[in-house]
Amino acid sequence: MSNALRVFIVFFSLVCIACLLSAIAPVLAQSATFAWPQGKKIALSLSFDDARNSQVEGGTALLDKYGVKATFYVHPSAVEKRLDGWKKAVASGHEIGNHSLNHPCSGNFLWARNKALEEYSLEKMRDELVQANQQIKALLGVTPESFAYPCGQTFVGRGVDTRSYVPIIASLFTSGRTWLNEAPNDPGYADFAQLTGVESDGKDFAQILPIIEDAKKNNLWVVLAGHEMNTEGNQTTRLAMLEKLVQYANDPKNEIWIAPVGTIAKYIQAKKTPR
Ligand SMILES: [Zn+2]
Repeated sequence: MSNALRVFIVFFSLVCIACLLSAIAPVLAQSATFAWPQGKKIALSLSFDDARNSQVEGGTALLDKYGVKATFYVHPSAVEKRLDGWKKAVASGHEIGNHSLNHPCSGNFLWARNKALEEYSLEKMRDELVQANQQIKALLGVTPESFAYPCGQTFVGRGVDTRSYVPIIASLFTSGRTWLNEAPNDPGYADFAQLTGVESDGKDFAQILPIIEDAKKNNLWVVLAGHEMNTEGNQTTRLAMLEKLVQYANDPKNEIWIAPVGTIAKYIQAKKTPR
């Protein structure tokens, strides 16, 4: 290889690296410089789906003991079963989100075959989401501003007729949370209609801690998502883990801002410059 060719290759490589760095720098800068209140290094939201009875039979009591507010994504029919408990949760300052009217999911879940997303239309979905909000308002006196996708699924229809219902969520709610994600939310980048939700069910504190510490390196927002709040069982966020987590989050030296999804979403939106 001639010297001239070597020089050209080195020069060309340097130009490519410079282009790449300049392209990703704004993205990196957005999260690294995002300022949480009071110099906190990470935002953390606890969220729980389905208005399971255990949430108001033991879960909210534990959170209230530590003054921590969570987001509960409910359907109205489940709220009716423990109406007093849910009214108390609202009075304690917990956020109530919408988790649909009938919890439609893919018909591959046999329990969802009679309300399968594959058979839904966007119109039916929108109507039911509005109805759910109206019913929740009638039951609890609050109108949900956040939504959690049942089963984390964001589509209606099938094949070439499949449609995303994310745009409906973006138009009706200030935020929408999905499910079983691996990455936290980057406040400078995240689509608020598809916030990620990291599972808290079945995990010990030792499994949750690295998720938080990793997110802290880049000032990210972790939204944990669970179901039952109990000592053990299927789809259960264990109260023992939760107690350690809220104690850790409340300790100022850990620099964590723990707040409901809606509170953090509003804070980010108020600070974000339009993209
Ligand atoms: Zn659900």
